[in-house]
Amino acid sequence: MGVLYDAIVIGGGVVGSAIARELTRYRLNCAVLEKNADVCYETSGRNTGVCHGGFAYDIGSLKGRFCVEGNRLMGDLADELGFSFERCGKVLVGFTEWDYNRLLEVIKQGEALGATGLRMIDKEELHRLIPAVEGEFAMLSENSGIIDPFGLTIAYAENAAENGCRYFLDHEVTAIAREGENWKITAGGEEFVTRWVINAAGLSCGKISEMLGIPGYRMIYSKDDYIILDERMGKLVPMPIYTVPSNLYMGIHVTRTTDGNVLLGPSAEDTMNNSWYGVEQKNIDMLYDEAMKIWPHVKRGDYIRTYSGILPKWTDENGRIQDFKIEILDDIAPHAVNLVGIESPGLTASTPIARYVLELMKAREDLQENPDFNPVRQASVRFAKLPEEEQARLIEEDPNWGELVCRCQKVTKAEILRAIHNPLGVNTMVGVKYRTRAMMGRCQGGYCQMRIEQMLEEELGLAPEEVDFNRRNAPALFGKVRDDA
Ligand SMILES: Cc1cc2nc3c(=O)[nH]c(=O)nc-3n(C[C@H](O)[C@H](O)[C@H](O)COP(=O)(O)OP(=O)(O)OC[C@H]3O[C@@H](n4cnc5c(N)ncnc54)[C@H](O)[C@@H]3O)c2cc1C
Repeated sequence: MGVLYDAIVIGGGVVGSAIARELTRYRLNCAVLEKNADVCYETSGRNTGVCHGGFAYDIGSLKGRFCVEGNRLMGDLADELGFSFERCGKVLVGFTEWDYNRLLEVIKQGEALGATGLRMIDKEELHRLIPAVEGEFAMLSENSGIIDPFGLTIAYAENAAENGCRYFLDHEVTAIAREGENWKITAGGEEFVTRWVINAAGLSCGKISEMLGIPGYRMIYSKDDYIILDERMGKLVPMPIYTVPSNLYMGIHVTRTTDGNVLLGPSAEDTMNNSWYGVEQKNIDMLYDEAMKIWPHVKRGDYIRTYSGILPKWTDENGRIQDFKIEILDDIAPHAVNLVGIESPGLTASTPIARYVLELMKAREDLQENPDFNPVRQASVRFAKLPEEEQARLIEEDPNWGELVCRCQKVTKAEILRAIHNPLGVNTMVGVKYRTRAMMGRCQGGYCQMRIEQMLEEELGLAPEEVDFNRRNAPALFGKVRDDA
């Protein structure tokens, strides 16, 4: 037999990577099997990036409990892991008496869940906080915030890898079988043997659950479309602006990202298709109309691009959406932690979810602490955000800090080099984009894309046709057009 792992996580999104990081706090030989070429290609890289306050969930639910806990932990996590996070607050704006009463209910619900810093504010205070907003009053959630979702996911994964967890990218799990006391997992044409297996496969959670011998989860998906606006609009959105939520839908919101872009969305459509990410014109028009009602500054000239994300939800037989399911069924699937329906607020709740997984494991096995675990990850440097003296010092040290590769986002050659040599071994062009923001600006890579492609060739010794854009065998270049000397 080859390597016997103590624990294998299926899926390296924000939840799987948070779990991987928590596993490395213990003396466990662990690995992550991820079907894509990077860790935030699915839901963890396709969300709104809001650190929710924890007031919109059923009382007594895991969603509510982990959201409140995750919100409380986010500042410390950002300090340890070096990703962008701002506790900027968030408002839910209202116009009618019904809205006012609904917001009072939301505050009550939030307080019962343990959320703090929730209060009603009048029109004057609302406009003092956000001069550009529409609304007669609002509920303010002082502790809500915004997170860089790519930064958080990559930070968990890199910290887990630095603490000894192995990442197998491009390894799609296709079969799982019980083999004696262990699990045998087939992924990417290889076999892995492990004592524990953890299903953190996001949109494929139902499929992996079936492979573990736990069938019967009814899955539906909610597809959410968004428009991204230019960074110059960010200063008009100091905090996320939401409408009054119903029980089923949070409503259209206008959110700023940690990099200053503005997001308008979501469209929220139920679907059984969990892999189609196209955005239709009718939704773009609808988002424009709805966003204008609460933030009348949307100009089509500020559109940069659209994107969409898909939420995995599981329902009962009547179609009612259920709470997060995190279970170990000792009789049916021993030593398998099964996570189902990790929809919103999975980003905010990622570390509490991961700690709960470890609690379930510890209730069944004595885990020894890893004395070498280091919770701190070297933060990636954003040259453009540094004070001038610090920029000058870096350029003096290494001239690569003085060469701009991405002009829109002001990303330097030194940042691209660091991203290419990342601890996970990600070597796609989009991997560089998610780590540096190069290609995310106004021109969407029109200027820097080919320079980044060339740097990947040079640094990794690849031929042009071997540099993949976002996934395996998806090269940006297919061959020469001319055979010049
Ligand atoms: C539109 C939208 C907006 C949202 N906004 C917020 C928000 O503002 N705040 C918040 O807290 N939450 C938000 N969420 C929820 C949050 O993004 C998710 O809960 C979270 O990202 C889920 O993480 P995950 O790791 O479970 O899933 P994923 O990121 O989907 O990770 C699962 C991973 O498993 C891999 N995988 C799947 N099948 C296999 C297989 N067979 N073998 C190997 N690997 C496999 C996938 O490639 C993927 O990388 C939002 C979600 C959406 C869709």
